[in-house]
Amino acid sequence: MSAAPKTRIVIVGGGTAGWMTAATLAMSFAGRTADVTLVESDEIGTIGVGEATVPHIRFFNQRLGIEEADFVRRTNATFKLGIEFRDWARIGDSYIHPFGDFGHDIAGLPFHQHWLHAARNGDEDVPSLEACSLPIVAARTNRFAPPLNDPRAVGSTYSYAYQFDSTLYAAYLRDYAEARGVVRIEGRVDAVEQHAGGIAAVRLANHTRIEGDVFVDCSGFRALLIKGALQAGHEDWSHWLPCDAAWAVPSANVGPLTPYTRATAREAGWQWRIPLQHRTGNGHVFSTRFTDPERAREILLANLEGEALAEPRMLRFRTGRRTRQWIGNCIAIGLSAGFLEPLESTSIHLIQLAIGKLVELFPTDGMLDTADAAEFNRAMALEYDRVRDFLVLHYCATERDDTPFWRHMRTMDLPPSLTEKIAGFRDRGIVASYREGMFLPASWLAVYYGQRIVPERVNPLIADLPVAESRARVAAVAAACRAAADAMPSHDDHLARIRTA
Ligand code: FAD
Repeated sequence: MSAAPKTRIVIVGGGTAGWMTAATLAMSFAGRTADVTLVESDEIGTIGVGEATVPHIRFFNQRLGIEEADFVRRTNATFKLGIEFRDWARIGDSYIHPFGDFGHDIAGLPFHQHWLHAARNGDEDVPSLEACSLPIVAARTNRFAPPLNDPRAVGSTYSYAYQFDSTLYAAYLRDYAEARGVVRIEGRVDAVEQHAGGIAAVRLANHTRIEGDVFVDCSGFRALLIKGALQAGHEDWSHWLPCDAAWAVPSANVGPLTPYTRATAREAGWQWRIPLQHRTGNGHVFSTRFTDPERAREILLANLEGEALAEPRMLRFRTGRRTRQWIGNCIAIGLSAGFLEPLESTSIHLIQLAIGKLVELFPTDGMLDTADAAEFNRAMALEYDRVRDFLVLHYCATERDDTPFWRHMRTMDLPPSLTEKIAGFRDRGIVASYREGMFLPASWLAVYYGQRIVPERVNPLIADLPVAESRARVAAVAAACRAAADAMPSHDDHLARIRTA
C-alpha cells in the first residue's frame, strides 16, 4: 500500500511569524505528514521590531525543546516580570502590570478586597497593593529569580517573559526549522495564482513557481495572500486606538538592566523602553491625527537614557484585524492577520496562539474543512477583541486632559464589552473572568487600580470582617513578598549566571 501523499505547506514570509510557524510545523509534521517550504525576500526584509513578550513565549520555546540558557545567549535576551506604566492616569503616576498575582484568595474571596477593606478603614500604614505582588517588589528593586514550584510558597505566585532581539530570534528559529527539514527559498513573490479552494501557487520574480496545498501568509503588513489575493476584509479600530505610527531607535544601555519593560505616556501617544543585554530598544508610538511625525521624533530622542545607536526609523500601521484570518487553504499569521499597538507586548503572543490553533486544526489528511476555518476565525477574532479592550482600558481610564489627544481618549465611546467590564469593577470590585482571552483577572486588576479605577463598595462578605483581620493578612503578604524579593539575586547577576550556564 503506498503512503498517503504529504501535505505541501508553503509559508510566505520569514519574519518572527514566518519562522515561529515554520519551526512549529517542522516539529509537528515535517518529513512525516507534511513538507514545509518558506519563501522570504532579503531585499524586502522584516519589520525589525517586536522585542517584548508575555510569559506564554516560554511555553512556546519549551514545546520546541529550546533550552533557556542557549536561547538567552543567542537572542541577547533579558528577563521580564511585567510592564511599568508611567504618567498614564496622571502625570507623575507609576504602576506595574506584573506577570503574577496580588496576594492570594482567602476563603474564595479575592485578596484585593481585603486590601481595599484595610486601606479604606485602617490607618496610613497599610502597605500598598503593589507591595503585595512579588514580581512588582522584585522588579522595583531590579531583582530576578525564576518562580518556585511549591504552590504554597509566595515564590510560586508569578511568571516571567523575555525581552529579546527579534531578528536574532527569527534567525535562531530558522536554524531550528532548517535542521528539521524546512526548505527556505530566497525570492520576492510577484504573483499569486488562485483556484476555487484558495491559493494554488505563488510565483517569484525569478519565475520560480511554488505550488502548495496549504499556504500560510506571514508576509507582514503587505498581507500578500489574505488581503492581496483573497481580499479578506479588515475591521478598523482606529477610533478606539488612534495611534497609527511609531519611531523606533536603539540606544546604549545605561545602568543595571531592568527586569521589566517601560511604557511612558507622552502628549499624543507613548514611549517604550525595552532593555536587552547589548542595547535598549526604544520607540514612540503616536497618532498622526494629534501630532506631527517631526515632533514625535524629537520627543523620542529627548527622552532616551543612553546615546542613540542609529537614526530613528518610522513605521506606519493601521489598528484592527482581518475579519477572516483563514480563508480556503490560506491562513494569515502575524502582521498580515491584524495589528494592535505593542502597549502590552501582545503581537508575538497572538502569533503563538494562531500557530497553536493551526496545529490543533491542521488538515493532516490534506482535507480542508470549512468548520475548522470557522473555528479558527472565531477563536482568533475573540483573542484580538479581548486584547483590544484591555489596551483601550489604559487610555480611557485617565484623568489627563493636558492635550487634545488625552481629552479625546478620556471622552471617546468605548466598545460595549469594555464598558460593561469597567462598570462591574467600579461598582463592586468584580473582575469578570473570561473563559477565553489571554489576560487573567490579576492583569485587569493591576490596570484598573493603576489607572485609578477604584471600586465604590467592598464585597459585603469582607466589609463585615473586622478591619484588623484584613489588615493582618495584607501585612503578612507584603512581608512575605519583601523577604522573597530580598532573597533573589539581582537581574544582572542572574543573567550572568544563565549566560555562563
Ligand atoms: P515581518 O517581520 O514584516 O515579516 C514579513 C516577511 O514577509 C519578511 O520576511 C518579508 O521579507 C516577507 N515578505 C513580504 N513581502 C514579500 C514578498 N513579496 N515576497 C517574499 N517575501 C515577502 N510585538 C511584540 O510581541 N512585542 C513588541 O514589543 C512589539 N513591538 C512592536 C513595535 C512596533 C512599532 C510594531 C509595528 C510592531 C511591534 N510588534 C511587537 C509586532 C511584531 O513586530 C510582529 O508581530 C512580529 O515581528 C511579526 O512580524 P511578521 O513576521 O508578521 O512580519
